[in-house]
Amino acid sequence: MAGRLPRRAASKVVPFFLPNRGCPSRCVYCDQSVAAGTAPQDPCPAEIEACLRDAATRFRAPVETAFFGATFTAMPRSEQERLLAPILRLKREGIVDRLRISTHPAHIEEDVLAFLREHEVDVLELGIQSFSDRVLAAAGRGVTADQSEAACRRVLEAGLELVVQLMPFLPDSTQQDDVESARRTAALRPSAARIFPTLVLEGTLLAGLLADGRYRPATLEKTVARVARMLEPLHEAGVPVLRIGLQPSERLEESLQAGPYHPALGELCRAAWLARAMAKVIGRRGEPFGQGEHDGDHDVDANADGRTGGPVLSVSRELASLVLGHRRFGLKRLHEETRRSWKVQVEEKTAGAAPGVSIGDNLVVTVYTAGVRLERERK
Ligand code: SF4
Repeated sequence: MAGRLPRRAASKVVPFFLPNRGCPSRCVYCDQSVAAGTAPQDPCPAEIEACLRDAATRFRAPVETAFFGATFTAMPRSEQERLLAPILRLKREGIVDRLRISTHPAHIEEDVLAFLREHEVDVLELGIQSFSDRVLAAAGRGVTADQSEAACRRVLEAGLELVVQLMPFLPDSTQQDDVESARRTAALRPSAARIFPTLVLEGTLLAGLLADGRYRPATLEKTVARVARMLEPLHEAGVPVLRIGLQPSERLEESLQAGPYHPALGELCRAAWLARAMAKVIGRRGEPFGQGEHDGDHDVDANADGRTGGPVLSVSRELASLVLGHRRFGLKRLHEETRRSWKVQVEEKTAGAAPGVSIGDNLVVTVYTAGVRLERERK
């Protein structure tokens, strides 16, 4: 392919998996061959180059590429060099525009970061999983919370983008641990986060703990509620959450022994978060509508199917799927959180208006999906 390709707003990501390469030991939950899905595993440099050239030609644009599934920075330096060299070349040709790598926070020394910068790595994803020492020890992570936090800070100071991966429901973790981990992540202000609720996969140490009755997997309901709470500090800090839950795949479904697997897990968790956030703004039935600014006209219930009476929830079309949620799960959560039934109207967005949800005739909840912030204003 000759010449530079035009830059697009969000490039396609072409991932490669290097299952467990560089890992000094095996974390209790880990089976990277499942996480890989259909992505190429253990490719050689020639395959990497051919695959990326082909993808850029098909998409008619530069692509982003990523190495996942390994402790990349603990692999022998010559091996890292061998995998990064073709990508550096393709970056010079304008075929690759971004490179991300995932690794373990125990392997983020200054010389590692200098090497990654020389090889034009843009984004470093750190498998932090938890900021509780007790939980990290139980998961066999071989690192403490303070060491993990220091690694995050070094990445940011080196000028690389940081993505923090968290895993609620690891052995010995509590809701407090998981929400606190999200808070510590938010305080670091990374570029983004991912949340992977713990699943029990065949052949892992966790599967053994499950069989012995020493690990109890989370239910879907508990997971949705806990992740919704973890989203609060992340959204308040404007940290986008790129993914919730592993990518659904046949391989994952075959290997899954227990745990909160659902193909629309992210949508359920985000809808639950939004229902909670809206309920805080709106107030609950029996409390003053709109946190004490209620004039009395809106505290009227509709029937459960929302056909009669108010209050009316007007949702801009672009937010409708988030508010209503998977099979109207979000709306049900909103009923529960506010203890009110709502009549929903989906509105076309008016030019220039922020996407939002208006309630009755004097309150507007504005949701900024980018930052994600939620506020209440007087019309
Ligand atoms: S460091 Fe990552 S890839 Fe390696 S065993 Fe642990 S979870 Fe798996």
